Amino acid sequence: MIKFEHVYKRYGNDVLALKDVNLEIQQGEFIGIIGLSGAGKSTLIRTINKMHPISEGVLEVDDVSVPALKGKELRRFRRKVGMIFQSFNLVTRAKVITNVLSAFVPDLPFWRVLLGYYKKEEEIKALEALDRVGILDKAYTRVDQLSGGQQQRVALARTLAQDPRIILADEPVASLDPVTAAVVMQDFKNINKDDNITILINIHHVELALEYCDRIIGIREGAVVYDGPSDQVTPEV
Ligand code: ADP
Ligand code: ADP
Repeated sequence: MIKFEHVYKRYGNDVLALKDVNLEIQQGEFIGIIGLSGAGKSTLIRTINKMHPISEGVLEVDDVSVPALKGKELRRFRRKVGMIFQSFNLVTRAKVITNVLSAFVPDLPFWRVLLGYYKKEEEIKALEALDRVGILDKAYTRVDQLSGGQQQRVALARTLAQDPRIILADEPVASLDPVTAAVVMQDFKNINKDDNITILINIHHVELALEYCDRIIGIREGAVVYDGPSDQVTPEV
């Protein structure tokens, strides 16, 4: 479970990006976070893996206090909390499989992966992850030969290979065309249902959020202004 209690996030002295956020998120929920640009969606997601530490309040994941995590514990925690970005964050001149394998050696430089610094069973796990998102046939292709949608699925496979309990996705479909965006949302939904992984997605396409996510959290000026099932969202949200 992810728990926010009276969470505030400030950047410097001027920007209050989160204001008194209170949330309880159960294992296996699929949540769409909606709101205008600058509302605080990205900040909310990035507090959960301590990419952006909170300024005040209580933030716990499975009864562990996130602000207290440091060093090795924080690195171990982040393996359980996968992160996906709008820009995919892949090494585009490397092969797909190499990018997925990098999930297994997060503390080592990427060139160690390029040199084959991984185990056979890790390669098999990486291939399984690629199969899950339907791009096994691209395993030995260079990332820069793939479409945007395929690249986002490589990023998803890399996160899956970490065997996460939670996936945080910051605008993962924002740079994709509508058809591809729907395909990628369906991938997220399948993974959520099959593996009971909690997924939080920032998404400014409200229709996509309503169609694929189970619960919607609406953010405005750093505050949660809506929180409920996606089939009960009213137009003014
Ligand atoms: P959203 O994801 O909804 O677009 P963000 O969480 O990125 O919103 O931003 C919320 C507010 O915090 C905005 O006013 C933004 O300019 C500000 N902000 C975000 N990141 C930083 C940062 N690293 N330093 C200063 N201000 C930031
Ligand atoms: P994205 O849309 O992928 O979230 P942004 O352009 O919002 O990317 O932000 C890119 C980076 O800049 C993030 O790390 C964010 O925290 C930071 N950032 C966003 N707004 C501000 C700001 N007003 N001042 C300083 N840093 C910011």
